[in-house]
Amino acid sequence: MDILRKPEEMLAWSQARSREGGTIALVPTMGFFHEGHLSLMRRAAELCDTVVVSLFVNPTQFGPNEDLDRYPRDFECDMELVCKEPVAAVFAPTPELMYLAGFQTEVRVTQLSTYLCGKSRPVHFAGVATVVTKLFNIVRPEVAVFGEKDFQQLAIIRRLVTDLNIPVRIVGHPIVREADGLAMSSRNANLDPANRAAALSLSTALRLVRTEAARGVLATAELGQSVARHIHSFAGTAIDYASFVDGDSLEAVETVDERTILALAVHVDGKAGKVRLIDNGFVLPQ
Ligand code: AMP
Repeated sequence: MDILRKPEEMLAWSQARSREGGTIALVPTMGFFHEGHLSLMRRAAELCDTVVVSLFVNPTQFGPNEDLDRYPRDFECDMELVCKEPVAAVFAPTPELMYLAGFQTEVRVTQLSTYLCGKSRPVHFAGVATVVTKLFNIVRPEVAVFGEKDFQQLAIIRRLVTDLNIPVRIVGHPIVREADGLAMSSRNANLDPANRAAALSLSTALRLVRTEAARGVLATAELGQSVARHIHSFAGTAIDYASFVDGDSLEAVETVDERTILALAVHVDGKAGKVRLIDNGFVLPQ
């Protein structure tokens, strides 16, 4: 497995692979790998003969008061995990190599970026869209695999490649969970084990609304009250949003139908400050 640091080295590597007839699938990540990341890599290997993983904690997608400094990192451990997976190369640049002096270009998916996480994280998705565009230009993949855990990000990237005619097929991968239902996340490392029930309130809220919807409660105002009551019943939780949205447009809906997703973002007391967790899922069986 090759580890590449410089964008120009990565581009040359990819171009050489393509000349040999290889097809490349890219898995963009911020590292601190867990089973969710590894399952994306395995999925990528089913789709193309060459898998490239990017590992870059992108500073431009963190707001001024967000957890960039606290974001967990362990490059050695990540390399140990990734070398057991069907991955041909890891692209791990530094911020200085990605954002050269004078950098001033931004990609913004205007409307989709304003909903859900975009309300409390106004610069986040421009940072994501810009870095993903750069990664596509550097790695030149045929396919890129993204997790459905970040389903707003996935919707934004799909819009981005369509709008800008970027020839990359975007593949979504289902959420990988711990045995108790917690969606895997690098940020879970900052959770306080004593406060596990609070962290689990997102996945248990999803289960709760599915049960209520199956009983015929389809008004999202009513379901929303149940969700808020449930999450707030755990000490140390603060809801950023609990929204019922259309899975494609991300617009809020008043009545649940087959395409309705409950999207959650909740701050939970962690080991050193709040940890922001997200989760989502369809309300009705698919
Ligand atoms: P991150 O390193 O958190 O930026 O995530 C990198 C990629 O892994 C993104 O496409 C995420 O959506 C995806 N991912 C993170 N956690 C999970 C999970 N629990 N299940 C599936 N995909 C995930």
